[in-house]
Amino acid sequence: MGTLNAPRISTPRRIVRRNPSVVSKYMAAIRSVNTEPERRLSTLLAQTGLRFRRNYAIVPGTPDIAFPRENVAVFVDGCFWHACSHCYVAPSVNATYWRAKAQRNRQRDRRTERQLRKLGWSVVRIRECALERNADACVRRIKLVLSGCTRGRGVG
Ligand SMILES: [Zn+2]
Repeated sequence: MGTLNAPRISTPRRIVRRNPSVVSKYMAAIRSVNTEPERRLSTLLAQTGLRFRRNYAIVPGTPDIAFPRENVAVFVDGCFWHACSHCYVAPSVNATYWRAKAQRNRQRDRRTERQLRKLGWSVVRIRECALERNADACVRRIKLVLSGCTRGRGVG
């Protein structure tokens, strides 16, 4: 049960401290993969005994966490990358650029969801800040979708 196509990329935080001028370039170059919130959620899910795959590249959008048997895809959305309506603050430098980029990410999210649903998958989106606030609730939500009690719905 290996992790597919998951290069390990550290968060920009350390680099930010070292040299703020490289941040934009750095952020532009990476697509956030295997982030800390993702790792945290998968650790919690693993503790419940659920079996899942990380970075499941064989379906659209490469879900961060996938339950191939139940056809449930989970995406952990970084608040920055997905312009979270609760806590997104555009960087002061190149704010327009970053806001537009986040909007494009959100559009891509919607497209991915449509593609997955067409293939019979349910989609659960977990916001980074929701995970921070109440990780247990996030796990419960995923289990609920897995149990078929409800359909996964995007929560922005
Ligand atoms: Zn947020």
